[in-house]
Amino acid sequence: MQTLLRDNRLCGDDRMSEDTTVAVADRVDEVEAPLRRVFREYGLPRVHWFVVAVAMNLVARLSSLLPPLVLGTAIDAVFNGSSDYSLPLVPKAWLPAEPKAQFWFSVALIVGAFVVTAACTWAQGIASDVFAHRSLHAVRVDTFRKMQELDMAFFDEQQTGEAMSILNQDATNLERFLDQALKNGFRLVIMVLAIGALLISMNWQLALVTLVGVPLMALFTIWFSRKVAPRYDAVRSSVGDLNTQLENSIGGMQLVKTSNTEEFETERVERASWNFYTTNMDVLKLAFLYRPGMRLLAGLSFVATFVVGGLWLFSGPPLFFSGDLTVGEFVVFIFLTQRFIDPLAQISNIIDWFENARASGKRIFGLMDTPVRIEDAPDAIELDPVDGAVEYDDVTFGYDEEPIIEDVSFDAAAGDTVAFVGPTGAGKSTAVKLLMRLYDVDEGAIRVDGHDVRDVTVGSLRESIGYVSQETYLFDGTVAENIRYGEFDATREEIIEAAKAAEAHEFIEELADGYDTQVGERGARLSGGQRQRISIARTVLQDPDILILDEATSAVDTETEVLIQRSLDRLAADRTTFVIAHRLSTVTDADTILVLEEGRVVERGTHQELLEEDGLYANLWAVQAGEIDDLPDEFVDRARGDV
Ligand code: ADP
Repeated sequence: MQTLLRDNRLCGDDRMSEDTTVAVADRVDEVEAPLRRVFREYGLPRVHWFVVAVAMNLVARLSSLLPPLVLGTAIDAVFNGSSDYSLPLVPKAWLPAEPKAQFWFSVALIVGAFVVTAACTWAQGIASDVFAHRSLHAVRVDTFRKMQELDMAFFDEQQTGEAMSILNQDATNLERFLDQALKNGFRLVIMVLAIGALLISMNWQLALVTLVGVPLMALFTIWFSRKVAPRYDAVRSSVGDLNTQLENSIGGMQLVKTSNTEEFETERVERASWNFYTTNMDVLKLAFLYRPGMRLLAGLSFVATFVVGGLWLFSGPPLFFSGDLTVGEFVVFIFLTQRFIDPLAQISNIIDWFENARASGKRIFGLMDTPVRIEDAPDAIELDPVDGAVEYDDVTFGYDEEPIIEDVSFDAAAGDTVAFVGPTGAGKSTAVKLLMRLYDVDEGAIRVDGHDVRDVTVGSLRESIGYVSQETYLFDGTVAENIRYGEFDATREEIIEAAKAAEAHEFIEELADGYDTQVGERGARLSGGQRQRISIARTVLQDPDILILDEATSAVDTETEVLIQRSLDRLAADRTTFVIAHRLSTVTDADTILVLEEGRVVERGTHQELLEEDGLYANLWAVQAGEIDDLPDEFVDRARGDV
């Protein structure tokens, strides 16, 4: 992903943040100890669930060790009669003296241990699931909220698929870590410590044989996690790329079909998927080595214990070993060594989850740490009520180093209509986006009622501005829900009134379910003109003080255009209005027409004045009005924005 670095052309204005990088990918490497941070920021408020989970885990694991211990004692004391019936930590007086009673006591203990293990495992499962899922719910919501606070530059740069993969898969990876990895991690620690202590207390010499594999496994694990960490970062980033590709290809399905580029898109998805496969394989190649390696080391521990213990029973202590080993002890060793090996072999999974979650945590916090650049100043005031006087004072702005708007100045009195015309790419849309603070100006200032837009709250500013663009976006839902979007407490009557004003009522009534008709994703079941009128109705309902019409009629047929134009004229009548017009006939009544070319205002005046000036505007007008068939070459180039 390329980086969008905006140079700081502010020359002493301290409003703009020093830190201007917007891509998450650039922040990822700066995130330190992401998992500790997840635990600190999201785990601690729910730590009681975590404590319950750990406590239950502890009881479940310890009670699961009881059956083999009791079995060993029963073999030696009850069946062999070679030693006393005793259990660690239990006073002798509590234990029965008769072999038969000892047998049934052992059975009761074993059954009891199984029951306790099952009950505590159940409780621990619930507690750790609640802990993990609640923590992650909070992470997901916070990440989404934060994402929405970021300025448009972030969304220009960040691919949708990438953002989706952070909210979905990366969050799920963290969830799995908090749930599975913590559960299994604790189990591992408890088992290794408890079994190690038990074995040592029973026969420390044989215990050394069993435990010699542990440091080897630890070294092997350290080697693996060092090697695998960067490979996991690559996997996470390739998942984002794949999602972006899928999102793009599916989102543009109509274009794909009409351009007959299915094969091309398949190849692109195939490439992204192959990249995902290869980065995954890089991880797996190591895992292929690591997992069986761990099993082998664990198996060797087991075999060594079996061989040394077996020889010991046959013919006394072998090699440099000394002392006694009973059959019961040997059985306990074999059982416990098995118990010991299982969680150790699980380390590989824990490392897997851990590394995956670490890479995901870095991406989530990379997003969380992205600075919010367009936000309320500490002493921002509410812009309410608004008269609608707007002033551009020497405004300069560029998405990157290249300025797109340069030294644009004009005044619009409350209620005025200002039109921006000029070639495609001249910066007309950009100019109005600055008014809404979708981006902040680099130099100069934009004022509404005399207040710099950066000195008022973003909420009150945007509430007072209505924006109708040619790209209408409808949410999946009903027609009424879409009209009401943003004015959620509007009544049915108000919605219908707004639809009437937007010339939308008639066609809505003709839809299958009227106002309750589902519009489909992005309004796919409606025509462009219908979507446009619904979005105008939404703006009517919003009743803004300032209105921006960004080529609002360019995507519709002539008949619909007449309807839409009529509704827009009504909407614009008593408020300050900015019109970006493709068809000049729609702006002849504007109080001021600004002709933009390459980001600069090259002509300004009323329609009549500009015609008299006989410049770019007059020529564009002549072509559109059909007065001349062709523009002089110079103007064709200028109109295309080629100069
Ligand atoms: P107009 O509305 O006059 O057609 P725009 O304001 O949409 O022009 O675009 C002006 C210039 O800014 C174009 O060269 C366009 O490529 C560039 N531009 C527009 N939006 C972005 C963006 N989000 N990021 C980078 N460049 C952009």
